Amino acid sequence: MKIIMLGAPGAGKGTQAKMIADKYGIPHISTGDIFRANIKNGTELGKKAKEYMDQGLLVPDELTCDLVVDRIAQPDAAKGYVLDGFPRTIPQAEALTAALKARGESVDYAIDVDVPDENIVNRMGGRRACLACGATYHVSFNPPKKEGICDVCGKELVLRDDDKPETVQKRLDVYHAQTQPLIDYYTKAGVLRSVDGTQDIDKVFGDITGILG
Ligand code: ADP
Ligand code: AMP
Repeated sequence: MKIIMLGAPGAGKGTQAKMIADKYGIPHISTGDIFRANIKNGTELGKKAKEYMDQGLLVPDELTCDLVVDRIAQPDAAKGYVLDGFPRTIPQAEALTAALKARGESVDYAIDVDVPDENIVNRMGGRRACLACGATYHVSFNPPKKEGICDVCGKELVLRDDDKPETVQKRLDVYHAQTQPLIDYYTKAGVLRSVDGTQDIDKVFGDITGILG
């Protein structure tokens, strides 16, 4: 099962992608997590990506597409995967379509987690992330068991640099200009499914599993 998650930053893509990956036994591939791991490890890719991420801009397609095409060719992705945060531009979607087509494959579901801009600012201000394992929490909507500590790996949780209010509006503008056109792209491909992302986390997941079966 090859699934991609669409939706504004903070819509809940990562939260749902993790739950999908656990239920269906497929890897959760988040380009944001890959970039953050590279930043943490001080790699060349991390240094380049950080310049864009800190400004709320997208990392250029040439640094992003090959990374994902290589990742989905790994053995653990043979049965499928859930892509979270990729594609984010039409050229990225085209690169993914072409890479899959070369293997006689295509995306099965593009799940759009629909949340209006008004709700997003609150979501991102309260988001707390574990940079060690990629787990995500919210101070009120999905708090960790122990304040400031990751339930999964016990490391300290942080407010991501790009979740600061001054960057959030920029990321929303970038989403509308560059990523939202993908809704049309995947509608035309016949694989788009929308869910109401303003509901509780479990209710959103129920709607998604209703689609995936
Ligand atoms: P994305 O991956 O789309 O950027 P996240 O999954 O990280 O978004 O979610 C953004 C924030 O909103 C997180 O703090 C998360 O805990 C919280 N969140 C996710 N889904 C919901 C929901 N359905 N209701 C309330 N808060 C949510
Ligand atoms: P995310 O964790 O999905 O919210 O991504 C955080 C940031 O990483 C984004 O704001 C972008 O700067 C960068 N990023 C993640 N995925 C992509 C992508 N597919 N294309 C370009 N930039 C990306």
